[in-house]
Amino acid sequence: MTSTDVISQFQRYVIGNYTRYPVCLSRGEGSQVWDIEGNRYLDFFPGWGCGLLGHCPPRVVKAVQDQVAKLIHVPNTWYTESQGALGEALSTRTTFDGRAFFCNSGAEANEAAIKLARLNGRGSGSNGGDRYKIITMLNSFHGRTMGALSATAQPKYHAGVGPMLPGFNYAPFGDLDAVSQAVDAETIGIMVEPIQGEGGVNLPPEGYLEGLRELCDRYKLLLIFDEVQTGMGRTGKWFTHQHWNVKPDIITLAKAVGGGVAVGGLLARPEVAEKLKPGTHAATFGGNPIACAAALATIETIDQDGLLKRATHVGEQFAARFNALAEKSHLIREVRVKGAMIGVELATDGAPVVAECLKRKLLINATHQTVIRLLPALNITDAEINEGCDIIDEVVLAMK
Ligand SMILES: *Cc1c(COP(=O)(O)O)cnc(C)c1O
Repeated sequence: MTSTDVISQFQRYVIGNYTRYPVCLSRGEGSQVWDIEGNRYLDFFPGWGCGLLGHCPPRVVKAVQDQVAKLIHVPNTWYTESQGALGEALSTRTTFDGRAFFCNSGAEANEAAIKLARLNGRGSGSNGGDRYKIITMLNSFHGRTMGALSATAQPKYHAGVGPMLPGFNYAPFGDLDAVSQAVDAETIGIMVEPIQGEGGVNLPPEGYLEGLRELCDRYKLLLIFDEVQTGMGRTGKWFTHQHWNVKPDIITLAKAVGGGVAVGGLLARPEVAEKLKPGTHAATFGGNPIACAAALATIETIDQDGLLKRATHVGEQFAARFNALAEKSHLIREVRVKGAMIGVELATDGAPVVAECLKRKLLINATHQTVIRLLPALNITDAEINEGCDIIDEVVLAMK
């Protein structure tokens, strides 16, 4: 089969709800990936942030291969060793004694967090009433299911599928006063990405996350960090909020947790977590043996290969390259980097840059119209970073 054959098969049989590039990928290794014609691409955006260890990380491959022959799936009516071990591995990396619930995706993780917040808000109002409202931020992204979508404060994602779920108030990212003003007697929580991903790799202003914690303490609200994109070592700490002096009540995770295998989940403070009782919430595939084995192998790889440190180094390399490019091109407005989470604000649309890089066999992403976003593997080599940055330099410098 050729890419053209595959594309016509999609046109006939697969719903066209994605904008796809006309390339059919077939295998990958680290930061490199090949299409079915055998062309090699350098991947600065493996798996849309899920490929934290690049394509087919060896320990994850081995763990999945071993597990799949032993037990593929058992429901959560039974105990399995790997789910308990993953709970411990994640919890001991939090600073708030987190207790885990497992599911399969980021949207699902946020749905669980929304429900957990509401369960905590039951009868918790000053007059004994329920508190159920959650404040989220403009330009946020929390997922595509109706609850997570209602939490997502970007009108383009709401278009055509309203009405949204009630109970969400939006405030500009970085504006503590606006959050404070949005709190009312029915508010139970604040949900925020510590660094906004889809919204353009927006770093929190100084004091912002700590200020949100203070507001939560003052009004007895739950602080929920959506770490779906930022978690698992992406920015040089296990969880990105750990760069600041702030403890959340709930964090949500997905994308990178399983080294490319679908795993999602949340971690909550014990007193908050206990409201998730039997019957309140569930996920049939959540915490299945393959997912947990993959996630444990991912954590082991990050530890044994020193990848938290490496994330910081990767960020420094990219920052140096883009800051150098900014000296030469007026198209670079701002470079925003935290570890291996890189955003480059352009003075023009990002899509043509992505397209020109693809022609040169470099895979990158553009988000929020004008932001080049890179979520490279933590184990990308310096040589690969320079190879790809040379291509981006060439593309940007050729643009008007
Ligand atoms: C990708 C993402 C989600 C949604 O994750 P899915 O697995 O696609 O449902 C939620 N929150 C953030 C911050 C994300 O980046």
